[in-house]
Amino acid sequence: MMTVTTKLVTAASALCLLGGLLTVAPSTATANVATPTDTEQPRIPFTKSSVTVGYSHQGRRIVAQRQGPASAPYVLLALGQMHGTEPKGRPVISELRRLKISTKSKVQIWSISTMNPDGSARRSRGNARGVDLNRNFPTNWRKSGKGIFYSGKGPASERETKAVMKFVDQIKPNAVLSFHQHANTVFSVCSKPSRAWVRRTGKLMKLPVPSVAKANCKKDAATYRGTFNEWFVDLKGYGVFSTVELPPSGRVTKARVKRYAKATRTLAYEVPRFTR
Ligand SMILES: [Zn+2]
Repeated sequence: MMTVTTKLVTAASALCLLGGLLTVAPSTATANVATPTDTEQPRIPFTKSSVTVGYSHQGRRIVAQRQGPASAPYVLLALGQMHGTEPKGRPVISELRRLKISTKSKVQIWSISTMNPDGSARRSRGNARGVDLNRNFPTNWRKSGKGIFYSGKGPASERETKAVMKFVDQIKPNAVLSFHQHANTVFSVCSKPSRAWVRRTGKLMKLPVPSVAKANCKKDAATYRGTFNEWFVDLKGYGVFSTVELPPSGRVTKARVKRYAKATRTLAYEVPRFTR
């Protein structure tokens, strides 16, 4: 069973691995160069419950919505989709938005259905320029040729990446859930700061999590460049991060969508436990 899981993880890593997230920001946003002082800057509160994070290359709007009190001291960010060929995180976000969040919640939930609306419309993994957004973040970025893992011309070269980076810098989430497909697991167990969060995500969503011993962390670190995960955890140090690899679409039933949404809400309530 573990062998199967490991193979799944490896296959998924090759296909998808590592999610990222989003942000509210004017289209003039520039690629942020992280500095240690970023985490010391105050969070920018958004009193509105819906924010335009930015726009895609083809001009589609990227929107973030808040649930829970705007004054809540903890923030969870849930990103439904980064790759256009992985659609099932989006109904999870829709379901999440139907769930009631306590007005006394210490955690506010920000959710973005998709940060890649062009890819979603075209049913392509990358954005309209063929860039894999999860290879475009400015951490450990490395140029790779055109193909499904095309890195783009430079770090944060894409409007979608910049939009998410800016939003994240504004809301400074303590925790992120980034939905992908189709590996039926939760990644980022190799990220020590996120390890407990990843395991908790797997438990609540009933998705298998590989053990650190089974994961090929050294190889993954060398292979997966420019990911949202790495930028958020290692460069920014904002908090913990889970890459939620949902099963193939045919297996994501309505019942499972509800389970993933409720698990997301539970994880949100538990964010303070995972915050340093
Ligand atoms: Zn993906």
